[in-house]
Amino acid sequence: MNRLWNDHPLAREMNLATAAVSQAGLLCRSVQAEIDPGALAKQDRSPVTVADFGSQALICRAIREAFPDDPIIGEENAAVLRERAQEEMLGRIVSHVGKLLPGSSADQVCDWIDLGGANEYSPRFWTLDPIDGTKGFLRGGQYAIALALIIEGKVAAAVLGCPNLGPTLDADRGPGSLFTAIKGQGTWESPLLGDGTPVSVSVSPQTDPSLIRFCESVEAAHSSHGDAAHIAERLKIQAPPARLDSQAKYAVVARGEAEAYLRLPRDQVYREKIWDHAAGLLVVTEAGGRVTDINGRDLDFSLGYQLDKNRGVVATNTTVHEDVLRVIRDLDLP
Ligand code: AMP
Ligand code: MG
Repeated sequence: MNRLWNDHPLAREMNLATAAVSQAGLLCRSVQAEIDPGALAKQDRSPVTVADFGSQALICRAIREAFPDDPIIGEENAAVLRERAQEEMLGRIVSHVGKLLPGSSADQVCDWIDLGGANEYSPRFWTLDPIDGTKGFLRGGQYAIALALIIEGKVAAAVLGCPNLGPTLDADRGPGSLFTAIKGQGTWESPLLGDGTPVSVSVSPQTDPSLIRFCESVEAAHSSHGDAAHIAERLKIQAPPARLDSQAKYAVVARGEAEAYLRLPRDQVYREKIWDHAAGLLVVTEAGGRVTDINGRDLDFSLGYQLDKNRGVVATNTTVHEDVLRVIRDLDLP
Protein backbone atom coordinates (compact mmCIF):
# COMPACT_ATOMS: atom_id res chain seq x y z
CA MET A 1 0.00 0.00 0.00
CA ASN A 2 1.42 3.35 -1.01
CA ARG A 3 1.42 5.77 1.92
CA LEU A 4 0.59 8.68 -0.41
CA TRP A 5 -3.02 7.64 -0.72
CA ASN A 6 -3.33 5.12 2.10
CA ASP A 7 -6.65 6.39 3.37
CA HIS A 8 -8.10 7.75 0.17
CA PRO A 9 -11.31 6.15 -1.17
CA LEU A 10 -9.49 5.46 -4.46
CA ALA A 11 -6.50 3.78 -2.77
CA ARG A 12 -7.29 0.35 -4.24
CA GLU A 13 -7.68 1.80 -7.72
CA MET A 14 -4.37 3.67 -7.47
CA ASN A 15 -2.45 0.70 -6.12
CA LEU A 16 -3.76 -1.41 -8.95
CA ALA A 17 -3.12 1.23 -11.59
CA THR A 18 0.45 1.98 -10.53
CA ALA A 19 1.34 -1.71 -10.32
CA ALA A 20 -0.21 -2.41 -13.73
CA VAL A 21 1.46 0.55 -15.45
CA SER A 22 4.84 -0.37 -13.96
CA GLN A 23 4.43 -3.93 -15.16
CA ALA A 24 3.49 -2.71 -18.64
CA GLY A 25 6.58 -0.47 -18.50
CA LEU A 26 8.72 -3.54 -17.90
CA LEU A 27 7.18 -5.24 -20.91
CA CYS A 28 7.70 -2.19 -23.13
CA ARG A 29 11.32 -1.94 -22.05
CA SER A 30 11.99 -5.57 -22.74
CA VAL A 31 10.45 -5.28 -26.21
CA GLN A 32 12.42 -2.11 -26.88
CA ALA A 33 15.67 -3.75 -25.80
CA GLU A 34 15.18 -6.28 -28.60
CA ILE A 35 14.69 -3.70 -31.37
CA ASP A 36 17.39 -4.20 -33.89
CA PRO A 37 18.90 -0.84 -34.82
CA GLY A 38 18.10 -1.51 -38.49
CA ALA A 39 14.38 -1.85 -37.74
CA LEU A 40 13.68 1.86 -38.17
CA ALA A 41 15.30 1.95 -41.58
CA LYS A 42 13.29 -1.10 -42.59
CA GLN A 43 10.13 0.61 -41.35
CA ASP A 44 9.44 -2.43 -39.19
CA ARG A 45 6.65 -1.36 -36.88
CA SER A 46 6.24 -4.80 -35.32
CA PRO A 47 8.05 -4.02 -32.03
CA VAL A 48 5.60 -1.27 -31.18
CA THR A 49 2.69 -3.52 -32.13
CA VAL A 50 3.99 -6.21 -29.77
CA ALA A 51 4.48 -3.75 -26.91
CA ASP A 52 1.18 -1.95 -27.54
CA PHE A 53 -0.94 -5.11 -27.40
CA GLY A 54 1.16 -6.61 -24.59
CA SER A 55 0.78 -3.49 -22.48
CA GLN A 56 -2.98 -3.37 -23.05
CA ALA A 57 -3.33 -7.08 -22.18
CA LEU A 58 -1.50 -6.69 -18.86
CA ILE A 59 -3.32 -3.56 -17.76
CA CYS A 60 -6.82 -4.66 -18.80
CA ARG A 61 -6.35 -8.02 -17.09
CA ALA A 62 -5.32 -6.31 -13.87
CA ILE A 63 -8.34 -3.98 -13.95
CA ARG A 64 -10.72 -6.83 -14.70
CA GLU A 65 -9.42 -8.90 -11.76
CA ALA A 66 -9.86 -6.09 -9.26
CA PHE A 67 -12.84 -4.23 -10.69
CA PRO A 68 -14.80 -6.65 -12.87
CA ASP A 69 -17.60 -4.18 -13.60
CA ASP A 70 -15.47 -1.28 -14.78
CA PRO A 71 -15.54 -0.63 -18.55
CA ILE A 72 -12.22 0.24 -20.21
CA ILE A 73 -11.98 2.50 -23.24
CA GLY A 74 -8.64 1.43 -24.68
CA GLU A 75 -6.92 2.27 -27.92
CA GLU A 76 -6.55 -1.29 -29.23
CA ASN A 77 -8.66 -4.37 -29.86
CA ALA A 78 -7.60 -7.90 -30.73
CA ALA A 79 -9.71 -8.44 -33.88
CA VAL A 80 -6.72 -8.41 -36.25
CA LEU A 81 -4.61 -10.54 -33.93
CA ARG A 82 -7.14 -13.33 -34.08
CA GLU A 83 -6.62 -13.65 -37.83
CA ARG A 84 -4.44 -16.53 -38.99
CA ALA A 85 -2.01 -14.25 -40.74
CA GLN A 86 -1.14 -12.71 -37.39
CA GLU A 87 -0.14 -15.95 -35.69
CA GLU A 88 3.51 -15.06 -35.52
CA MET A 89 2.78 -11.60 -34.11
CA LEU A 90 0.41 -13.04 -31.51
CA GLY A 91 3.08 -15.55 -30.52
CA ARG A 92 5.54 -12.74 -29.85
CA ILE A 93 3.00 -10.87 -27.74
CA VAL A 94 2.12 -13.98 -25.73
CA SER A 95 5.79 -14.69 -25.11
CA HIS A 96 6.37 -11.18 -23.72
CA VAL A 97 3.23 -11.26 -21.58
CA GLY A 98 4.22 -14.76 -20.42
CA LYS A 99 7.50 -13.46 -19.01
CA LEU A 100 5.43 -11.47 -16.51
CA LEU A 101 2.41 -13.76 -16.24
CA PRO A 102 3.74 -17.28 -16.82
CA GLY A 103 1.32 -19.66 -18.48
CA SER A 104 -0.72 -17.01 -20.34
CA SER A 105 -2.35 -18.47 -23.45
CA ALA A 106 -2.99 -16.77 -26.80
CA ASP A 107 -6.74 -16.85 -26.22
CA GLN A 108 -6.37 -15.28 -22.80
CA VAL A 109 -4.14 -12.53 -24.14
CA CYS A 110 -6.65 -11.71 -26.91
CA ASP A 111 -9.50 -11.71 -24.39
CA TRP A 112 -7.61 -9.35 -22.08
CA ILE A 113 -6.87 -6.97 -24.97
CA ASP A 114 -10.55 -6.98 -25.92
CA LEU A 115 -11.52 -5.92 -22.39
CA GLY A 116 -10.36 -2.50 -23.53
CA GLY A 117 -12.96 -2.42 -26.28
CA ALA A 118 -15.56 -0.17 -24.68
CA ASN A 119 -16.13 3.09 -26.51
CA GLU A 120 -19.17 4.62 -24.90
CA TYR A 121 -19.47 6.88 -21.92
CA SER A 122 -20.46 5.48 -18.55
CA PRO A 123 -20.49 7.07 -15.09
CA ARG A 124 -17.31 5.23 -14.12
CA PHE A 125 -14.75 3.92 -16.59
CA TRP A 126 -11.04 3.66 -17.27
CA THR A 127 -9.29 4.91 -20.36
CA LEU A 128 -5.99 3.49 -21.51
CA ASP A 129 -3.36 4.30 -24.08
CA PRO A 130 -1.09 1.24 -23.77
CA ILE A 131 1.66 3.02 -25.73
CA ASP A 132 1.15 6.66 -26.42
CA GLY A 133 3.77 8.03 -28.81
CA THR A 134 4.35 4.92 -30.92
CA LYS A 135 6.78 6.80 -33.15
CA GLY A 136 8.78 7.83 -30.08
CA PHE A 137 8.90 4.21 -28.96
CA LEU A 138 10.36 3.15 -32.32
CA ARG A 139 12.85 6.02 -32.36
CA GLY A 140 14.00 5.29 -28.81
CA GLY A 141 12.52 8.65 -27.80
CA GLN A 142 9.66 9.46 -25.47
CA TYR A 143 6.57 7.33 -25.11
CA ALA A 144 4.06 6.87 -22.31
CA ILE A 145 1.69 4.34 -20.80
CA ALA A 146 -1.35 6.37 -19.85
CA LEU A 147 -4.14 5.14 -17.59
CA ALA A 148 -6.92 7.23 -16.09
CA LEU A 149 -10.08 6.62 -14.12
CA ILE A 150 -13.01 8.82 -15.08
CA ILE A 151 -15.90 9.28 -12.68
CA GLU A 152 -18.96 11.33 -13.61
CA GLY A 153 -17.13 12.73 -16.64
CA LYS A 154 -14.13 14.02 -14.64
CA VAL A 155 -10.67 12.52 -14.40
CA ALA A 156 -10.51 11.22 -10.83
CA ALA A 157 -7.17 9.40 -10.86
CA ALA A 158 -4.29 9.07 -13.28
CA VAL A 159 -1.09 7.12 -13.74
CA LEU A 160 1.36 8.14 -16.44
CA GLY A 161 4.41 5.97 -16.98
CA CYS A 162 7.24 7.51 -19.00
CA PRO A 163 9.89 4.79 -19.38
CA ASN A 164 12.37 6.96 -21.28
CA LEU A 165 12.01 10.20 -19.35
CA GLY A 166 15.11 11.12 -17.35
CA PRO A 167 15.10 13.09 -14.09
CA THR A 168 15.33 16.26 -16.19
CA LEU A 169 14.70 16.79 -19.89
CA ASP A 170 18.42 17.05 -20.65
CA ALA A 171 19.52 14.18 -18.42
CA ASP A 172 20.20 10.71 -19.66
CA ARG A 173 17.25 8.47 -19.12
CA GLY A 174 17.38 6.65 -15.81
CA PRO A 175 14.84 4.15 -14.58
CA GLY A 176 12.03 6.13 -16.21
CA SER A 177 9.36 8.05 -14.33
CA LEU A 178 5.91 7.33 -13.03
CA PHE A 179 3.53 10.23 -12.42
CA THR A 180 0.51 9.66 -10.21
CA ALA A 181 -2.35 11.99 -9.41
CA ILE A 182 -5.63 11.73 -7.55
CA LYS A 183 -8.02 14.65 -7.75
CA GLY A 184 -7.27 16.98 -4.87
CA GLN A 185 -4.09 15.14 -3.79
CA GLY A 186 -1.36 16.72 -5.93
CA THR A 187 0.93 15.11 -8.50
CA TRP A 188 3.77 12.83 -7.51
CA GLU A 189 6.73 11.49 -9.44
CA SER A 190 8.60 8.32 -8.61
CA PRO A 191 10.92 5.98 -10.49
CA LEU A 192 8.92 3.77 -12.86
CA LEU A 193 10.56 0.64 -11.50
CA GLY A 194 11.62 -0.13 -7.94
CA ASP A 195 10.56 1.41 -4.65
CA GLY A 196 11.89 4.98 -4.95
CA THR A 197 10.30 7.65 -2.78
CA PRO A 198 7.66 9.74 -4.59
CA VAL A 199 8.35 13.47 -4.79
CA SER A 200 5.74 16.15 -5.19
CA VAL A 201 5.93 18.01 -8.50
CA SER A 202 4.62 21.46 -9.34
CA VAL A 203 4.39 23.71 -12.34
CA SER A 204 6.73 26.60 -13.10
CA PRO A 205 5.97 29.88 -11.30
CA GLN A 206 6.85 31.89 -14.45
CA THR A 207 4.44 34.75 -15.13
CA ASP A 208 6.20 36.51 -18.02
CA PRO A 209 4.76 35.16 -21.30
CA SER A 210 7.92 36.06 -23.22
CA LEU A 211 9.88 33.64 -21.03
CA ILE A 212 7.63 30.68 -21.77
CA ARG A 213 9.29 27.42 -22.71
CA PHE A 214 6.77 25.39 -24.66
CA CYS A 215 6.60 21.84 -25.91
CA GLU A 216 4.81 20.26 -28.83
CA SER A 217 4.57 17.00 -30.79
CA VAL A 218 7.51 15.79 -32.82
CA GLU A 219 4.96 14.94 -35.49
CA ALA A 220 3.82 18.05 -37.36
CA ALA A 221 0.82 16.01 -38.53
CA HIS A 222 -0.46 15.90 -34.92
CA SER A 223 -0.05 19.59 -34.09
CA SER A 224 0.73 22.56 -36.29
CA HIS A 225 4.34 23.62 -35.76
CA GLY A 226 3.74 26.66 -37.92
CA ASP A 227 0.89 28.00 -35.79
CA ALA A 228 2.91 27.35 -32.63
CA ALA A 229 5.72 29.43 -34.13
CA HIS A 230 3.24 32.26 -34.80
CA ILE A 231 2.07 32.14 -31.20
CA ALA A 232 5.69 32.19 -30.00
CA GLU A 233 6.44 35.18 -32.21
CA ARG A 234 3.46 37.15 -30.91
CA LEU A 235 4.35 36.43 -27.30
CA LYS A 236 8.00 37.29 -28.05
CA ILE A 237 9.12 33.87 -26.88
CA GLN A 238 12.82 33.32 -27.54
CA ALA A 239 13.31 29.71 -26.47
CA PRO A 240 12.88 27.10 -29.21
CA PRO A 241 10.13 24.52 -28.57
CA ALA A 242 10.95 21.18 -26.98
CA ARG A 243 9.58 18.48 -29.24
CA LEU A 244 8.60 15.22 -27.59
CA ASP A 245 6.32 12.36 -28.47
CA SER A 246 3.48 11.28 -26.18
CA GLN A 247 1.95 12.59 -22.97
CA ALA A 248 5.47 13.03 -21.61
CA LYS A 249 4.71 16.64 -22.67
CA TYR A 250 2.14 16.91 -19.88
CA ALA A 251 4.72 15.51 -17.44
CA VAL A 252 7.25 18.12 -18.52
CA VAL A 253 4.74 20.94 -17.87
CA ALA A 254 3.72 19.35 -14.54
CA ARG A 255 7.25 19.30 -13.21
CA GLY A 256 7.97 22.87 -14.31
CA GLU A 257 10.37 22.27 -17.20
CA ALA A 258 8.04 23.98 -19.65
CA GLU A 259 5.27 26.50 -19.09
CA ALA A 260 3.05 25.31 -21.94
CA TYR A 261 2.14 22.35 -24.12
CA LEU A 262 0.47 23.39 -27.36
CA ARG A 263 -1.53 20.96 -29.47
CA LEU A 264 -2.90 22.94 -32.37
CA PRO A 265 -5.36 21.37 -34.81
CA ARG A 266 -4.23 20.81 -38.38
CA ASP A 267 -7.73 20.62 -39.76
CA GLN A 268 -11.41 20.84 -38.81
CA VAL A 269 -11.96 17.12 -38.91
CA TYR A 270 -9.70 15.39 -36.38
CA ARG A 271 -11.07 14.86 -32.89
CA GLU A 272 -8.68 14.26 -30.02
CA LYS A 273 -8.99 10.87 -28.32
CA ILE A 274 -9.67 10.71 -24.58
CA TRP A 275 -6.80 8.26 -23.93
CA ASP A 276 -4.32 10.78 -25.32
CA HIS A 277 -5.25 13.38 -22.70
CA ALA A 278 -7.08 12.06 -19.63
CA ALA A 279 -4.04 11.01 -17.58
CA GLY A 280 -1.94 13.98 -18.70
CA LEU A 281 -4.67 16.44 -17.80
CA LEU A 282 -4.82 15.36 -14.15
CA VAL A 283 -1.03 15.17 -13.88
CA VAL A 284 -0.84 18.83 -14.96
CA THR A 285 -3.84 20.21 -13.07
CA GLU A 286 -2.88 18.52 -9.79
CA ALA A 287 0.59 20.04 -10.17
CA GLY A 288 -1.05 23.48 -10.28
CA GLY A 289 -1.47 23.81 -14.04
CA ARG A 290 -4.46 24.40 -16.27
CA VAL A 291 -5.70 22.43 -19.30
CA THR A 292 -8.30 23.59 -21.81
CA ASP A 293 -8.83 23.34 -25.52
CA ILE A 294 -7.68 26.15 -27.83
CA ASN A 295 -10.96 28.00 -27.22
CA GLY A 296 -10.52 27.92 -23.45
CA ARG A 297 -13.10 25.18 -22.92
CA ASP A 298 -12.62 22.39 -20.40
CA LEU A 299 -11.97 19.00 -21.97
CA ASP A 300 -15.23 17.04 -21.94
CA PHE A 301 -14.75 13.36 -21.08
CA SER A 302 -18.46 12.56 -21.06
CA LEU A 303 -18.92 11.92 -24.78
CA GLY A 304 -17.34 8.52 -25.40
CA TYR A 305 -13.90 7.88 -26.82
CA GLN A 306 -13.43 11.26 -28.46
CA LEU A 307 -13.27 14.83 -27.21
CA ASP A 308 -16.02 15.71 -29.66
CA LYS A 309 -16.69 19.14 -28.23
CA ASN A 310 -13.05 20.25 -28.04
CA ARG A 311 -10.47 21.49 -30.51
CA GLY A 312 -6.78 20.98 -29.79
CA VAL A 313 -5.30 21.31 -26.32
CA VAL A 314 -3.48 24.00 -24.35
CA ALA A 315 -1.84 22.92 -21.08
CA THR A 316 0.02 25.52 -19.04
CA ASN A 317 1.34 26.45 -15.62
CA THR A 318 -1.96 28.45 -15.18
CA THR A 319 -0.33 31.90 -14.92
CA VAL A 320 0.39 32.21 -18.66
CA HIS A 321 -2.80 30.43 -19.78
CA GLU A 322 -4.87 33.49 -20.64
CA ASP A 323 -1.93 35.07 -22.50
CA VAL A 324 -1.66 32.01 -24.73
CA LEU A 325 -5.42 31.80 -25.31
CA ARG A 326 -5.58 35.51 -26.18
CA VAL A 327 -2.96 35.13 -28.90
CA ILE A 328 -4.68 32.00 -30.22
CA ARG A 329 -7.97 33.94 -30.51
CA ASP A 330 -6.23 36.43 -32.79
CA LEU A 331 -4.91 33.72 -35.08
CA ASP A 332 -7.10 32.00 -37.58
CA LEU A 333 -6.66 28.37 -36.48
CA PRO A 334 -8.67 25.61 -38.16
P1 AMP B 1 2.03 12.90 -30.01
O1 AMP B 1 3.00 11.86 -29.52
O2 AMP B 1 1.81 13.98 -29.01
O3 AMP B 1 2.35 13.41 -31.36
O4 AMP B 1 0.62 12.19 -30.05
C1 AMP B 1 0.42 10.89 -30.44
C2 AMP B 1 -1.06 10.69 -30.62
O5 AMP B 1 -1.53 11.54 -31.66
C3 AMP B 1 -1.49 9.32 -31.04
O6 AMP B 1 -1.79 8.53 -29.91
C4 AMP B 1 -2.74 9.55 -31.89
O7 AMP B 1 -3.91 9.14 -31.20
C5 AMP B 1 -2.79 11.05 -32.04
N1 AMP B 1 -3.07 11.54 -33.40
C6 AMP B 1 -3.16 10.86 -34.55
N2 AMP B 1 -3.49 11.67 -35.59
C7 AMP B 1 -3.63 12.92 -35.07
C8 AMP B 1 -3.98 14.20 -35.62
N3 AMP B 1 -4.25 14.35 -36.92
N4 AMP B 1 -4.03 15.25 -34.79
C9 AMP B 1 -3.77 15.11 -33.48
N5 AMP B 1 -3.43 13.92 -32.90
C10 AMP B 1 -3.37 12.84 -33.68
MG1 MG C 1 -1.80 7.98 -28.02
